[in-house]
Amino acid sequence: MKTVLLGPPGAGKGTQAEHIARKYEIPHISTGDMLRQATKNQTPVGLEAAGYIDKGELVPDDVIVRMVKERLGRPDCRKGFILDGFPRNLQQGKALAHTLDELGTDLDAVVYINVPEHDVIDRLSGRQTCRNCGEGYHVKYMPPKNKGVCDKCGGQLYQRTDDNAQTIKNRLEIYRQQTADLISYYDSINLLVEIAGDKTIDEVTKEIDARLRTDLRQP
Ligand SMILES: [Zn+2]
Repeated sequence: MKTVLLGPPGAGKGTQAEHIARKYEIPHISTGDMLRQATKNQTPVGLEAAGYIDKGELVPDDVIVRMVKERLGRPDCRKGFILDGFPRNLQQGKALAHTLDELGTDLDAVVYINVPEHDVIDRLSGRQTCRNCGEGYHVKYMPPKNKGVCDKCGGQLYQRTDDNAQTIKNRLEIYRQQTADLISYYDSINLLVEIAGDKTIDEVTKEIDARLRTDLRQP
């Protein structure tokens, strides 16, 4: 299963990606983890990326693309992979297609979790994180047993300052501008598996499983 996971911030991509990775026994490749790993291992492209990060600049597309290529060329990706956080725009999507072509392979599916805007705002504005261990919660969808207290370590929960309504709206607008063309592109080449994301995490997981089974006739 070679796949990409798309969806707006707050769509629960991380959780669903973990599920797909476990189910198909493939690596979950998030851009953030990949960047951290490449800089830690000091690979040539990792060092290049670190140079931009140290200067507080965005890592350019071509560096990210080379890092993705390096990662996808490793033996653990032969059976498949799930990309999370890449590609972000049409240009990156085309670069990914080119890279996979060079590696002699192709995508099987692009899972797109579609969540209505008011739902995304609702979800993002209720997020809480543990100050101590970083565990994530949600006041409505994933509340801690005791209000404001982490289930795992007893730490204090807080809300990120960029999770307020206006900032969220701006982030969504940027997301939409970047991904609209990418989603149409995957739809036009029949890779898009669109999932209605306005449901609970478990319901979304079940729908992804069912759709991947029927759409791809996976065993
Ligand atoms: Zn904690």
